[in-house]
Parts: sequence; C-alpha cells; structure tokens
Amino acid sequence: MSRVLLLAATTGYQIRAFGEAAERLGIDLVYATDRCHVLDDPWQDEAVPVRFHDEEASAEAILEASRTTPIDGVLAVGDRPTVIAAHVLQGLGLPGHPPTAAAAARNKLLTRERLRDCGLPVPGFLAVPLSPTLADVQSLAASVTFPAVVKPLALSASRGVMRVNDPAELTAALYRLRSLLQSPDIRGERTDASDMALIEDFVEGREFAVEGLMEHGRLRVLALFDKPDPLDGPFFEETIYVTPSSAADEIQKGIAAAVADAAEALGLFHGPVHAECRVSPPAGLGSPEVFVLEVAARPIGGLCARALRFSGEDAERVGAGDPSARPHVSLEELLIRHALGQSTSAWAREEQASGVMMIPIPRRGTYRGVSGLDAARAVAHIEDVRLTAKTDQLLVPLPEGASYLGFIFARAATAAEAERALRTAHGRLEFAITPEVRVLQSLHG
Ligand code: ADP
Repeated sequence: MSRVLLLAATTGYQIRAFGEAAERLGIDLVYATDRCHVLDDPWQDEAVPVRFHDEEASAEAILEASRTTPIDGVLAVGDRPTVIAAHVLQGLGLPGHPPTAAAAARNKLLTRERLRDCGLPVPGFLAVPLSPTLADVQSLAASVTFPAVVKPLALSASRGVMRVNDPAELTAALYRLRSLLQSPDIRGERTDASDMALIEDFVEGREFAVEGLMEHGRLRVLALFDKPDPLDGPFFEETIYVTPSSAADEIQKGIAAAVADAAEALGLFHGPVHAECRVSPPAGLGSPEVFVLEVAARPIGGLCARALRFSGEDAERVGAGDPSARPHVSLEELLIRHALGQSTSAWAREEQASGVMMIPIPRRGTYRGVSGLDAARAVAHIEDVRLTAKTDQLLVPLPEGASYLGFIFARAATAAEAERALRTAHGRLEFAITPEVRVLQSLHG
C-alpha cells in the first residue's frame, strides 16, 4: 500500500478531506503536525514527532523513520510546514519543490527579491527593522511612495497587512505590526522573520487567485478565481472567491503566464501552488500588467478547497448512468495522486461555476451565536453554510486576527449567479457579537 505523509499546520476539515480521499484511493495517510501546538498525540503509529520551527531536525527525523516505514509522497498543508516537506522530498529523492524555493515562497521579502531579480513586475519595496524610534520612521517616510502597504515577512491570510496613506499612518502601522509580532501566539511560532516589516507601493487593480500544480517545472492551472470585492484596504480581508473568472481571455492568459514566471523565478518545481495576483491598472486605464503578490508552495487553505471539484476519468460512465461512476473528485484526491507521481491530466475543474465566501469578522467581541442560518441555506445555489466560530469565542478582526466566522459555498451555472447567491445568503445571517469583557486585575489583589 502506498503511503503519503501529510504535514499540516492545523487539524480540522482539510485533514478529514485528505483522510477520505486516501481511503477512496486505498492509500495509507500518515499525518504529522507540530507537537508544540497540539497537546494530545497527533501521530498515528509510524510517525515521528516534529517541531515546525526546527525544520532540518524535523526533516531528518521523518527521513530516519521512513527507513523502516517507507513514504511514497509528501504533502504540506498551510505555509509553515512547506520547507520541511521540501527537505523530506529532497531526502527521499522524490520530485518536489526545492527547500530554497519553498523558503523563498514563504518569505515576502525573498519573494520580492527573486521576482525583481528575474525582471518580473514587482511593486517598489523596502524592508525595515521593526525597532524604530519615531525619528527613524519620520526619515523612513521620505523614501516611501504613498499609498503603501505595510506587512510582515512571514505571516499569511493577510494577517498584519495594512494600507497606509501618509507618514502618520505608516508610523501607526509599524507600531501596530510590531506589537502583533510580539504577541505570544506568533512568538510561539519562532519564525526568524518576525523582527522586520516590508513596505511596498500599493498596487491598484483587480485581484485574482490561482490554484495550480507544478508538474516538473511547468505550471498547470487548476482554477482561476476572481475576487470580486474591492481589496483597497486599510486591511485586506478575503471574502468572495468565484470561478471561472469573468476576466477577458487575454487577461486570464496573462495571469497564468505571470504565475508560471513567478513560480519559475522562485524555483518551485513539483507540487501544489496557490498564487495571488493583482492586475493593474484597473480596467480601461492602460495596458494591464500582472503583479504576482505571492506564490505559496501549498494548496488553497482549509475549507475553501471545497469550492473545487474535478471531473474527468469517469465522465463517460457518468453519462451512461453507471451508478458506480464518480462525477467528481476532490482537490485533496487530486493532490494525493500528484504526490504519488500519478498523472492528474484526466481531470479538469467541473463545468459548473463555484464560489466560496469567507465570512469576515465585522468587529472585535465575543461571539454569541447566529440567526438566519436556515434562511441562508435556503437561498438558491447555496450548497452549504459552515460556521467555524465557536460560541463564546473572542473574535479578533484583521489585521491582528487570523480567522473567519465561517464559510458559505455556492454552485451555479455562472459565476455571477454563484456570487449573488453568496451575497444573499450572507445578508440573511445575523451574528450576535457582544463587547469583550476585560478582567482588570486589582493592583492590591
Ligand atoms: P498574505 O500572504 O498574508 O496573504 P499578501 O502579501 O498576499 O499577504 O497580502 C495580502 C493581501 O493584501 C493581498 O491579497 C492584497 O489584497 C493586499 N496587498 C498586499 N500587498 C499589496 C500591494 N503591494 N498592493 C496592493 N495590495 C496589496
């Protein structure tokens, strides 16, 4: 039986989806997460403990264990374990993303430098230490073109990313980012990129996401998502993704070519990739240029993967009414096949349009519950509404937060219908959020 090692930063839905896909394919899935973050033993039988911050030692431990329990493929879920996965694949002599490429993809400064050095479009950027005095920031502001974007080097999901329009906002954003990076949960991750900020020119334009597979150095686009909500700041909360894209063919080709170039510039070679890009300037204001903001060496995160389904191998049997034929396979199934060196070219994204809304956290406070769930689920084309926030949980919006209230999924004949359904369903949800109760400790207590 083939065995795939899954390195995951979080537990939850996507792990279960990989588990189901593995069962269907009849392969053995060994699952590994960071020992520091999970108290109960996450390892199943053959696995070895890893510490995500200690990448080489973790990779060595896995390679050591693989001598007695062979591994045939490796997948990383989430940004943190991508470099460990790359080391393991290299050690096993299997095709993958080289460790240096995975490391560059995970670091926003290295990504900018690689893309710039390869002559690809990048916004102007400047890396600064996050220990400024106010005077430092004032002199720094002279070399910044406003509007600009302040961001950390190594967080994800737009955490810590802030638009700044003038020197005063720049100062505030740098201090805000510094305290975010000093928070215990981020310090606990022990990345070496937490004492710097990146300041970039703000790129005006529409935003897109690309889900793809690198196949021995060539990019195969699995899906191109439109992000129809304007992402103009001050924070950059993801909301709606819909596919297929409504962009003109030329633009879609330009995006695919730009992501392929960026992946090559980073050295990404074999495995899943997820890219974000902006096409600038906005429609009609000159010839468009694609700025690739990032190419992550991993698939789309968490529940969002459910927006993708692929049809292909069984299509004829499905057409002939064969009940044992499967109309669709999941992204996770495709990724496992790819990790095992099998071809995935027989599958393409289904014909239906699909969309997902990551339900934003509107304000900081304690989550008390939601009403309108049945009404939201009853909207035509809505497939599911999944709330991931837990009752009584403290909700923290961006830029400090790192979560959503939940996810809404839609499938329809067109992306516009799917998008409308997502907005209607969201409009029917009402979230009860009460102000956070802060317990003040008595000085004498
Ligand atoms: P993360 O890896 O945390 O998602 P990104 O660098 O991709 O961080 O930025 C998150 C979001 O912030 C992007 O999807 C985009 O909407 C916005 N953004 C980031 N950099 C820029 C920029 N230079 N110009 C305009 N928007 C930006």
